[in-house]
Amino acid sequence: MLERTEAWAAVNSGTRNIAGLATMADMLADAFSALPGHLALVEPDLVDAVLTDGSTQQIEHGRHLHLAVRPDAPAQILLTGHMDTVFPVDHPFQTGRWLANGNLNAPGAADMKGGLAVMLAALEAVEASPLAAQLGYEVLINSDEETGSLSSAPLIAGAAKGKVAALTYEPALPDGTLAGARGGTGNFSLVVHGKSAHAGRNPEEGRNALVAAADLALRLAAAREPMLAVNPARIDGGGPNNVVPDLAILRVNFRPRDAGAIARAQAALDSAATQVSSTHDVHVHVHGSFNRPPKPLDAGAERLFQLVKEAGADLGIPVSWKATGGVCDGNNIAACGVPVVDTMGVRGGLIHSADEFLIPESLAERAGLSAVTILRLAEKGLA
Ligand SMILES: [Zn+2]
Repeated sequence: MLERTEAWAAVNSGTRNIAGLATMADMLADAFSALPGHLALVEPDLVDAVLTDGSTQQIEHGRHLHLAVRPDAPAQILLTGHMDTVFPVDHPFQTGRWLANGNLNAPGAADMKGGLAVMLAALEAVEASPLAAQLGYEVLINSDEETGSLSSAPLIAGAAKGKVAALTYEPALPDGTLAGARGGTGNFSLVVHGKSAHAGRNPEEGRNALVAAADLALRLAAAREPMLAVNPARIDGGGPNNVVPDLAILRVNFRPRDAGAIARAQAALDSAATQVSSTHDVHVHVHGSFNRPPKPLDAGAERLFQLVKEAGADLGIPVSWKATGGVCDGNNIAACGVPVVDTMGVRGGLIHSADEFLIPESLAERAGLSAVTILRLAEKGLA
């Protein structure tokens, strides 16, 4: 597992590094071919981004790895991970090194190349058991998790269908604590088209898009409440002082904590767009989505956490969990109604920074935890 982790971490696979992701996908396809079933590298879905000039452009993504094993077996589960990292190809953090305390400091070591090694080792162990015959599973390793899984969301939803449970291999905290409930997130770009005019000669004929975007930001910020954080993050637009600006783009992030908060955020978006359009006589186009729905701990998720906890207890690994503000593919899986534990990967920390570290002893420990959890799902399901 360590060898694989180090080899995979040595390949830059930042979400926008298409060549690096292609290399990574090939390495993963090679390693995961040790498992039975049908493996494929799937083309990403098309995704548009709103540029600073208000136009939209397609974003390039890498292919996603998909493996289906024994689709006719009685118990079906989903295992997911991501091959991308947050480190672009020109980031200074590109190589690994061993720290004095024995931990591995390497890009993506914890998030989540180590987790992918844990997943593969657990599945290899499962395949060596006679119980494997009762179990079918899909493995999905996407290339765009760190930017919101926009090109893999339909693939995740499709793979989640009909599954009794799902395991995702994000890192656990250094002490092994898992992520329980998670809030959701949604990113939006609101493109405001006004009308330009001379600031001194005929300003009354202009429609100031920048002022309208600022009004939108204030109205959306007012939608903030305990279950919904709202962050107007940026306004692009404007130009010379003597021109009424005809274009502005407002970027805003919402953090809904439950489905009700999503509905209220959507209502706030609709009403702000309508009111600002009429008050300022501008056109407002809303782009974006709540791409990560909230992941509350429902009864099914509680049962899966209990099963992991019992597997841990039998292996002498204490298992606990707590809510977190972060988001991941576990959000999307939970939104499909499938119970998910999404931090089955290594123990590690300081992820998304050049100080990211993996605790090497956790590789075998977490692979054991996964293997026993999966075998029990094969044996008894999630009863
Ligand atoms: Zn991750």
